[in-house]
Amino acid sequence: MSAYDSAQATLNTLDKEAVLSLKGIGPALGAKLEKVGIRTLQDVLFHLPLRYEDRTFVTPIGQAALSRQLVLEGKVISCKIAFGRRRSLVVELQDDTGRISLRFFHFSKMQQNLLEKTSFLRCIGEVRRGASGFEIYHPEYTTKPQALETTLTPIYPVTEGITQNRIRSLVKQVLDLMNQGRVLRKLGSQFSELGDLDINSAIALVHNPPKEVALSELEDGNHPAQQRLAFEEMLSHHLSMRLIRQKMLNLKSYPYNKPTSVYKNLIGNFGFELTAAQRKVAVEIQKDMSKATPMLRLVQGDVGSGKTVIAALAAVHSSENLLQTAIMAPTELLAEQHFLNFSQWLAPLGITCAWLSGKVKGKKRIKELDLIATGEAGVVIGTHALFQKDVIFKDLGLVIIDEQHRFGVHQRLALREKGEINGRLPHQLVMTATPIPRTLTMSLYADMDSSIIDELPPGRSPITTTVIADNRRDDVIDHIESACNKGAQAYWVCTLIDESEVLQCQAAETTAQHLKEFLPKISIGLIHGRMTSKEKSEIMAQFKTGKIQLLVATTVIEVGVDVPNASLMVIENPERLGLAQLHQLRGRIGRGDIKSFCVLLYHPPLGHVSKQRLSVMRESQDGFFIAEKDLEIRGPGELFGSRQSGVVQFRIADLLRDSHMLDRIRNLADNLLKTDRECAQLIMDRWLHQPEILVQV
Ligand code: ADP
Ligand code: MG
Repeated sequence: MSAYDSAQATLNTLDKEAVLSLKGIGPALGAKLEKVGIRTLQDVLFHLPLRYEDRTFVTPIGQAALSRQLVLEGKVISCKIAFGRRRSLVVELQDDTGRISLRFFHFSKMQQNLLEKTSFLRCIGEVRRGASGFEIYHPEYTTKPQALETTLTPIYPVTEGITQNRIRSLVKQVLDLMNQGRVLRKLGSQFSELGDLDINSAIALVHNPPKEVALSELEDGNHPAQQRLAFEEMLSHHLSMRLIRQKMLNLKSYPYNKPTSVYKNLIGNFGFELTAAQRKVAVEIQKDMSKATPMLRLVQGDVGSGKTVIAALAAVHSSENLLQTAIMAPTELLAEQHFLNFSQWLAPLGITCAWLSGKVKGKKRIKELDLIATGEAGVVIGTHALFQKDVIFKDLGLVIIDEQHRFGVHQRLALREKGEINGRLPHQLVMTATPIPRTLTMSLYADMDSSIIDELPPGRSPITTTVIADNRRDDVIDHIESACNKGAQAYWVCTLIDESEVLQCQAAETTAQHLKEFLPKISIGLIHGRMTSKEKSEIMAQFKTGKIQLLVATTVIEVGVDVPNASLMVIENPERLGLAQLHQLRGRIGRGDIKSFCVLLYHPPLGHVSKQRLSVMRESQDGFFIAEKDLEIRGPGELFGSRQSGVVQFRIADLLRDSHMLDRIRNLADNLLKTDRECAQLIMDRWLHQPEILVQV
């Protein structure tokens, strides 16, 4: 029996009891719950509400306000079918203060009969402006109202097959058990610094907030109970990352010898001097790789700071130690750009590069796989196709992941495993072009060391950014024409971020067509994600040599594309993109010594937030500053583009709101890992759905 169990054996804890012990849960529902990570009573309690509604009082109809969830009740004065664009059932509800319509677009005959017969109704729903003034669409309703709720009503995240009411009833059963004396295990004395609120009261409160608690406080996540839980949740993530790191330190890798002449020759091949920042980071990497434990380093650098050079140096270092390097890029186009660059730099040094993507098939694929398996290829470049089963490395010493924010922690771990040979893991270098605010680095990348290239190569000229409404499109086109006639090259970027890739490509095709009509004398090219990689690289090559003057593109050019002569960029619908992404796109220009211009061609009207965001782009060209602003304005999920981007989704914590806790979290994590591993495990079990995956290396 462990220290915890013995200390708390007398307490009636409910942490490990299976959810199947609750009433009304059979194997079928149990399986569904398991899918969302609910296995135990503790899991039920840590399935936290997304938001709350106040159903504790009835609002007089005359005082109903827009966009509020309200409880209303009154006499039913009519119930009719309305034939508008869509047929609907409309119930008019009236009390002493006013009248409102309830509208149902979907309804059954039975519902209609009931509503026609009834004379009184209570309903709950969100007030909106409809055809007849204020209306509620599809309210929840009852004709026989019971007592009003006495606490605020939590709204839970639900999935298919598990309804809101089902979750509420499960939570209620577990809370009832707590009222009868069952408890969550306490965390021990280290947690005194979390304040007086113990976990049991905090949990009870967030599931069942008394009506005295201000809804706005809960909505902002500022209630002490929420803060208590947010702290613990962030701590759990931090702990799991730290454990990953600790395990890494026990693993073996390949201690590299110091770089020799090949490395130095590579620097000679670049044709420029390394910046001081590049030298500093290169040395940090050399040191890491000289150790017998695997390197795990994040290299951050603004767009154009020269990260590719850093990758090449590390790859050559690996090659000198007779080990292979795998370089993985998130898109085919970027992988290809790297392949061209690397081949050019490394071929003179006698190092062969192999190339692999999902689109490399048949004989070509067999040939590349052979290069990789025999070790003839010292450097292998590709997309995530590099980590398919049939790709076998001879002896992989280093894995480099470019533009890493698109891969999550789990993918990082999977890659590491792929490279394991005879109990040794390759070194790993992760490069990101999206500068990550310090807050996020500390919490999301606690498993890595980090380097920053905080200097751009000399001779870059600043980019002038203007924000222009798309009704002045013709002026912009004229401007492009005259610039191209003077020898400039330009990008025209079409973005449709919410739509499918197909639509995005269509938009680019249409735009290219229009521009060709307007500018018959300018040579216009088109590039998008649905072209074959051969087509894409041909277009890029033509743009590079200047044969194409104006390149219409989708966001495929977001990363990695490097054509120094391109000095103009028009971005359509910039209001729909994240600032980090805009910054990336804009980073395609301003790479040479020609003065560069970026036009953000928005579609009016522009909301307040969008205005604020676009003006950040106009005022700054500093990726770190822009990322901080984006984080402030839009939050971390958005900053990284997509919800699937691998960034942790917290249940209650909010990285920005709660960042003031991070220092305390780090200290406490240190302490727990040194003195109380069991407590650390307890916390991770609570918060991380699959802690076993997170801590496995
Ligand atoms: P990013 O950090 O965005 O990946 P790249 O590695 O693509 O940047 O570098 C951008 C451009 O700057 C490339 O054309 C590269 O050759 C050039 N470059 C990199 N380092 C230097 C340097 N020290 N001096 C001059 N040019 C450099
Ligand atoms: Mg790059």
